[in-house]
Amino acid sequence: MSITKHNWTREEILNIYNKPLMELLYEAATIHRQHHDPNTVQVSTLLSIKTGGCPEDCGYCPQAARYHTNLEGNDLMSVNQVKAQALRAKAAGSSRVCMGAAWRNVKDGEEFDNVLEMVRSINKLEMEVCCTLGMLTENQAQRLAEAGLYAYNHNLDTSEEYYKEVISTRGYEDRLKTIDNVRKTNVTVCSGGIIGMGENAEDRAGMLVALSTLNPQPESVPINALVPVEGTPMEEQEPVSIWEMVRMVATTRIVMPETQVRLSAGRTQMSREGQAMCFFAGANSIFAGDKLLTTPNPDVNEDMEMFKALGLNPQKAFEKKEQPQSIDAENSQFRPLGEKPKWSRPGHLIERNLEAQEKIKTKV
Ligand code: SF4
Repeated sequence: MSITKHNWTREEILNIYNKPLMELLYEAATIHRQHHDPNTVQVSTLLSIKTGGCPEDCGYCPQAARYHTNLEGNDLMSVNQVKAQALRAKAAGSSRVCMGAAWRNVKDGEEFDNVLEMVRSINKLEMEVCCTLGMLTENQAQRLAEAGLYAYNHNLDTSEEYYKEVISTRGYEDRLKTIDNVRKTNVTVCSGGIIGMGENAEDRAGMLVALSTLNPQPESVPINALVPVEGTPMEEQEPVSIWEMVRMVATTRIVMPETQVRLSAGRTQMSREGQAMCFFAGANSIFAGDKLLTTPNPDVNEDMEMFKALGLNPQKAFEKKEQPQSIDAENSQFRPLGEKPKWSRPGHLIERNLEAQEKIKTKV
């Protein structure tokens, strides 16, 4: 059984990433089998509960208000709408629902109270509930935990060095702080990144250093391939090859043996054979549904056909950790503190992000 190591260096990770592919695959698959059932893959559903109009400038994201993509935004969904979608997802084989809101950070108030109710209602359906709501304080993390949240997603996106080429409206340290706030509760941590944003292999290794040296390591690491969207600064980025994706998944599996590695955005660009190679290399989760927040994703039936062809079984809810207890709002021990933390605004210039904004202005 491989031991979880928390002091990985960039050089060590790069050496793994650059191994001859067959060797890399063999090592990753061996470690995968020691820690997970290789024939089980979790099916999760990602639900955009509040779409678009985000004040941040993440260069890959069509939800950033400043890039004016053709995205149709919507206000926060109602608790009933979310519950209905979760029931549908459960019937289609999902054991986890991840709710995403295009916010910079969580603000105490009616909308957050509604999100807490959504968490309670999905937990009652005996599904794992995950949220991705932006930066949050320890008190907000505690309130989510109390409502029955299973996981909180906050991606590092890339290495600290390359992060400065992607986002200027918040700093890497804010991301780590939010992860740390989640860690103070019994909510599990989900944090990963995106490849294909123009970063190099050193940056990919750098992101894996940042994640794998967390102690404990994140329970869940999504690996996304950029889906370039027209109107965003990354619209002309070349898609990553399947080999890069397989290398990234395998390396993630080796450096974080117990983590659930999630094959996330970009699956529509991958063949079934390519996805099978990712599962062999250690990916053990996919997102189901024809949309991944706002980008296209394979149809559920196609995924089920793929599972059948590969002899894969969907993972049941709470196989890795027991179901969190959900406490009703009236019995809550945590009151909103109305904190207004000073999350950073580095505000450095990212030329391609500025160009994308300018392009829109000249079109109008
Ligand atoms: S990735 Fe999240 S924070 Fe960044 S622009 Fe999109 S919705 Fe906003």
